[in-house]
Parts: sequence; C-alpha cells; structure tokens
Amino acid sequence: MSEDTKRTYVTQPALPPLDEFVESLKIIWGNRILTNKGPFHKQFEQELADYLGVKYISLTANGTLALVTALQALRITGEVITTPYSFVASTHSLWWNNIKPVFVDIEPDTCNLDPEKIEAAITPQTTAILPVHVYGNPCNVHQIREIGEIYGLKVIYDACHTFGVTINNEPVLNFGDLSVMSFHATKTFTTFEGGAIVCHDEAMKKRIDFLINFGFAGETTVVAPGINSKMNEIQAAMGLLQLKHIDSYIEKRRRIASLYRERLNGIPGLRLLYDMPGVKHCYPYFPVFVDEEKYGMSRDALYEKLKQNNIYGRRYFYPLISQFPTYRGLESAQPGKMPRAEKTSGQVICLPVYPELNEDTLVKTITIIKDFE
Ligand SMILES: *Cc1c(COP(=O)(O)O)cnc(C)c1O
Repeated sequence: MSEDTKRTYVTQPALPPLDEFVESLKIIWGNRILTNKGPFHKQFEQELADYLGVKYISLTANGTLALVTALQALRITGEVITTPYSFVASTHSLWWNNIKPVFVDIEPDTCNLDPEKIEAAITPQTTAILPVHVYGNPCNVHQIREIGEIYGLKVIYDACHTFGVTINNEPVLNFGDLSVMSFHATKTFTTFEGGAIVCHDEAMKKRIDFLINFGFAGETTVVAPGINSKMNEIQAAMGLLQLKHIDSYIEKRRRIASLYRERLNGIPGLRLLYDMPGVKHCYPYFPVFVDEEKYGMSRDALYEKLKQNNIYGRRYFYPLISQFPTYRGLESAQPGKMPRAEKTSGQVICLPVYPELNEDTLVKTITIIKDFE
C-alpha cells in the first residue's frame, strides 16, 4: 500500500459504477457534442431541478464562477454584507465583481451569518447580503428575507454545502433571490467540478444563461460582458448518474454522523452540531469544536494527533476569510470585531465523513478523540 492509500482524508468522492459512466462516454463519442447545452446538459438540468424541487436552475462549470455570475445577473455593486466563516470563494466572488465585502459575525449555534448583526452593517452603498448555509445547516432564512425586504437588499445564498436540504419540506434553495451550488469533488454531490445557479423566474434564468455563455443571446447578439462558465457534457453525464445514487450517499453520511454523535456525545470540552428541527440534512461535514481548557488538548494538538494516526481532519473554516491578506485591511475585518467567528475558527476540526468511510476507521477516529492520554 502506498503512503497515500493508508491515509484517511476528510472526504472521498462517491462515484457511480464505472460501466455506467462508460456507456455515457460512448454516447458522447458517438454524437461528438462535448459542450454548449448538449443533450446530457439539457437532461441533467431538468432532472436536477425536479430532484431539488426548484423551478429554474442553470448549470455551471463550478461553484466559484456560479457565484461570480450570480452577482452579475443581479447587477450587484457597492458593498455586500457577508460572513467570514466560509470557504474563500464566497468572498472572492465579490472581489471579482469589484464589490467591497462587509463582514459580520456568526450565530453561535449554526456558524451561519447572524441576522441580528446585519442591520448595523448596512450603509448607503449596501446592495445585497451574501450568507452561506455553512455545513449545509440552513441560515435563518425568514429573518434574512425580512431584512432584505425592509432595506431593499438582494439576497444571494452560497448554498455550496447544501444538496437536497429542506426546511419543513421546502427546499432551502427556494429562499433568497438566487442560490449558488457547487458540485466539486469534495461536495456531497459531485460532477468532478461543477455548479449551478437557482432562480425563481424565467426571465432571470434567461439572463443567467446569457451570462454563463459570454453574454450571447443569439448567434450574432451579445447582450452583456458575460463569461464562460458553462458545464460540459461529461460533467452533465456524471451528474445524471450521480442523481440515481445520491439518496443512498446521503443516507450513508447520515449514519456516520449519527454514530459520531452517539459516541462523542458528552465528552467535556467537545461541542457537536445536531440536526435542526424540521430540517432534512445532507451531512457534507462533521465539525467538532474543541474547548482546550475543558477538553485538555487544543484543537491543533488534536488535529496533529489524528494526523499521526493517518487521519486527516480539516480545520474548516480556519483561518477566517477576513484574516487573509486580501481582506484583513478592511475595517470590518479587524481583530475583535467578530468574536464568535474568531473563537469558532480557533476551535473547529472537521472529521472524515463520506459514504465509503469504513467502520474501522470511524471507530479508530472516535477512539483517538476519546482517549488521548
Ligand atoms: C466549494 C465551495 C465554493 C466553491 O465551489 P467550487 O465549485 O469549488 O468553485 C464556494 N463556497 C463554498 C461555501 C464552498 O464550500
């Protein structure tokens, strides 16, 4: 066994049977349609919308370009209120649109942007709010919608961690003006790379589709300085196969999460997140939060200890986006301004969770966390 195969990483992509994929490749080789809204693209777009319970969806090459394009679609400018507790692409998408990010602190329980902190951050330049459903746990969508309505702000959700998540049977993707998804190899649902933008009316879907394809509205008509963020046929073919298996992937993830919860519950200094009432989850990550004093070991020491045992957890999200060189000069990014995000970022470690994680590794991980003398 090579070094690499002995190691357990925080995630591993679940793949459909290879022969199913080969059949799709044969079709692509036969029809010579590789991209530009081919047959797989059309079929995947339809089946995905049906699966997710959304009206309109546009497929993209990845989640980052989907975020960049979503901001363009709504012509967002000036300042946007967002969270520092996310993957860097959330804020990078603002930078690529020449928009100033304004960071606000997170809620203690969900790690999501705290709606109570939004109003104080609004200025005459604010045009939108960009919250993230962190770890797939829905934001306080009702309160955020109300703030958006009162202040005339658009709401764009970074929904890259959510797949099939519902609140009281309502898809979380149906909240906000737009929601953006990622199908990167590390996500619950993957098409190698990939992404999507969810919207609620046909005119917006049309505009997004123009922007994804250089702004082309016809053979000789370009309506905007669009970008090339199209999903290709291989990604779409993969997506169609993944849709057949996604329910079993999520169920396997759910079982792993519940085992972790059962065995790690009640350890002093170790905080876990639990399912939210009325929410159907997708279990993309399993974060635990280490209180060094009560646990008796720091988060980083636990991270190293796991690593020595070939278990590679990830500190999502450490550092905060606001602590990276590009953003740390912003007023909203100054140390002490977001105490909860700073604390959470210093305590978090995400444990391995993926459909094919074997029981031995799971038990080994739990044992290392429980008895670490
Ligand atoms: C993965 C991710 C992205 C970026 O998506 P890509 O498909 O990798 O470009 C953006 N935001 C969040 C929260 C993510 O987890």
